[in-house]
Amino acid sequence: MLLDPLLPEVAFVGRSNVGKSTLLNALAGRRIAKISGTPGKTRALNVFLIEESHYFLDLPGYGYARVCKVQRAAFRGLVKHTLRRDQLRGVVWLLDIRHPLSADDQSMQDTLAEEEKTRVLAALTKGDKLSSGKRSTRERELREELGLPEDQVVVTSAKTGAGIADLKEAIAGLISGATQ
Ligand code: GDP
Repeated sequence: MLLDPLLPEVAFVGRSNVGKSTLLNALAGRRIAKISGTPGKTRALNVFLIEESHYFLDLPGYGYARVCKVQRAAFRGLVKHTLRRDQLRGVVWLLDIRHPLSADDQSMQDTLAEEEKTRVLAALTKGDKLSSGKRSTRERELREELGLPEDQVVVTSAKTGAGIADLKEAIAGLISGATQ
């Protein structure tokens, strides 16, 4: 799928219910993404034009228990194709700060690692659900587990707004190719 006009693209991936729609809305400053009602309903790639300057590609949430083999394969294909898009500048990978990586998160980690040139930002969502001490601990633990440097991991809360400006800045860095 070729988008017109051609502009830099940033993809968003994460397990369903991680808070992806909520975060997309917070980043855009308006309601662009539909908040998940029926789990598993949005299976296609949603595209949002942001400030006439770049696109957010919203991949379907993964990790539903009742997904058949064919759907899994289709999702993997969609991710692979998205990661290989010419205009893709990087991926924002959402993880709930409270949870260990699920098996599906781990396979996403493998996929991202296979596409070596893909730049990844991890957004650790729902930061408001932990005390500040626990939040720092989990941030460090996840950073180590993901093997990402400090500036590629951002704790966010769509509820308090914490981390949203930092994440925006990091995304702007991806788009401009300024970092790494
Ligand atoms: P999606 O399936 O990844 O798109 O997840 P949603 O954006 O629909 O969010 C799933 C649930 O998590 C909803 O009930 C949201 O209100 C809640 N949620 C999302 N972000 C946050 C956050 O930063 N803090 C808290 N406390 N709840 C959040």
